[in-house]
Amino acid sequence: MCRNDKYNLENDNVYTYALNMGNLGVCKWNIDTGEMVVSEKITGYEFNSIKSMNEFINIITYEKDKMMAIQDLDDYINGSLEFYRSTFRIKTKCGEIKWVLLKGKIFKDETESSGVLGVLIFNITNMKFYDRWDSLTKLPNREFFLIKLNNSIKMAEIHNKKGALIYIDIDNLKIINHNFGHHLGDWILKSFAKSITVLLGKQGELFRLEGDEFAILIYEFNDIKKIEKMCNKIHKCLKKSFRIMGKEIYISTSLGVTVFPDDSSDPDELLKFCNFAVYKSKGKGKNECTFFDKQKAQPYFRKILIDSELKNSIINNELDIFYQPQINALNNKIIGFEALLRWNNNKLGNVPPAEFIPVAEDNGYIVQIGNWVLNKALDTACAWKEKGYKFSTISVNVSPIQLEKSDFKMNILNICAKHNVEPSLLEIEITERTLIEIGEDRIELLNELMESGVSIAIDDFGTGYSSLSYLINLPVNTLKIDKSFISNIHNDKNKAVIGSIVKLSKYLKYKVITEGVETREQLDEIIGLGCNLIQGYYFSKPLKENKMEDLLKNQSK
Ligand code: C2E
Ligand code: CA
Ligand code: CA
Repeated sequence: MCRNDKYNLENDNVYTYALNMGNLGVCKWNIDTGEMVVSEKITGYEFNSIKSMNEFINIITYEKDKMMAIQDLDDYINGSLEFYRSTFRIKTKCGEIKWVLLKGKIFKDETESSGVLGVLIFNITNMKFYDRWDSLTKLPNREFFLIKLNNSIKMAEIHNKKGALIYIDIDNLKIINHNFGHHLGDWILKSFAKSITVLLGKQGELFRLEGDEFAILIYEFNDIKKIEKMCNKIHKCLKKSFRIMGKEIYISTSLGVTVFPDDSSDPDELLKFCNFAVYKSKGKGKNECTFFDKQKAQPYFRKILIDSELKNSIINNELDIFYQPQINALNNKIIGFEALLRWNNNKLGNVPPAEFIPVAEDNGYIVQIGNWVLNKALDTACAWKEKGYKFSTISVNVSPIQLEKSDFKMNILNICAKHNVEPSLLEIEITERTLIEIGEDRIELLNELMESGVSIAIDDFGTGYSSLSYLINLPVNTLKIDKSFISNIHNDKNKAVIGSIVKLSKYLKYKVITEGVETREQLDEIIGLGCNLIQGYYFSKPLKENKMEDLLKNQSK
């Protein structure tokens, strides 16, 4: 056909052929007069007296897809969709299930107020492109599931009803495949699909999402107990073995349930919630059912979000360092400062380091982040030294994960060299707990680092339950007494502990810094115990780089 030719449907051979073969149908519905013409062979029905497209869909559509098919049509008619396009299953007159794709458009002329809807009906049952079946189990597949989930959420919202999604994961399919072969595994999947479909009846629909994962959509329910009952029934049904080739095979399933729109109206989120519930069921020892509980799940999802956002925190320029001065309380001079990492993310806002550093440690980002901190802090320290400000050390926190890296020592010395900073300007802070837990070889490495000039501070000292005699064997320059001792300084026992730490440190020639000093009373007590070096809100909170620089500037005047 030439491009400029007028396309004439009636004269088109392919069109006529398709109509006759029963693979294509057409309908024309005058919305105002109710006149409905159907030339349609796909269903096997003859339509003489129907008055609307809705009626037509109601007759031909397979029960479980009716709601969705009607909704698609309504959405187009009331103008919320630009094109009419709908895929669903029909049940032909002789009971056969077929998949159809309906495409249509409303045509208007001056005489018709609402217009005429013209629709083409394609039989897509055998078209790979539109495949909505899982070929093994003959269940509707993931693609169709997503369409129906979307639709069910919408319907639940419109009609103020609740629906549920039950996610099913077969716990032991891998083992069955491994022990008995894939052929038998496939047979189990087929039998499972059949059993659950029968069990569900009209109450819901089963989909195969992938591998050993299935989902049940309950389009509507009134009482959550019904869903609980359904899950119990599934587990009960699977208590019976599957018999094949003289073998008895048992399967167990972990279930996760979410309710829409209560838990969410977002399909992706509902799937995420279901997966979480399944994961909880597995954690309970499998063959369990968990109903999603937003409150319980919140920390888990926050952690996942932190994890994914933290990945790009350096590239996105979201990290910053605040500096908290360490003061000699006898002359109020700054002796150094601790570099404290800050993270501001556009989704999460300011996240405290106590929350994101454990995540960074879990996934290993702490190595890159730690290097970023070292580079940034030493760069700043170098600039401040060049400006002539007086201080003796800059302290940087180091995580046990960084310590375990084989190039830890070289890396630190290289960063010092890169920023033209004497290693003696750098103090690394390692918690007492970490120092107790790391191996001999790491202690040896820290000794070497100390010999290169880098100072080592034991952070959060007093919380790691190490014996004081243990201290003698550790590479240490500075002890940082944990803030918990200062907040309870009224307690005589705490006072005694601090007093003996200070005495012992003087004897061993360690510097002692008291962290977390917030009030004048605490300061007086601590000075009374012989400790003059203070880091705490009483003198200053951690400050932005420029504010810290102002303090240094004032001091050097
Ligand atoms: P930390 O090393 O014990 O740091 C001291 C924490 O005490 C800081 O909290 C600081 O803001 C807070 N602080 C200081 N003075 C006072 C005070 O007078 N009262 C009270 N109540 N708190 C005070 P921040 O900045 O939230 O840091 C928390 C922890 O995160 C740090 O504890 C450290 O373990 C870790 N951290 C911070 N930056 C880094 C880093 O760059 N790398 C690593 N690995 N960990 C870091
Ligand atoms: Ca610290
Ligand atoms: Ca500390």
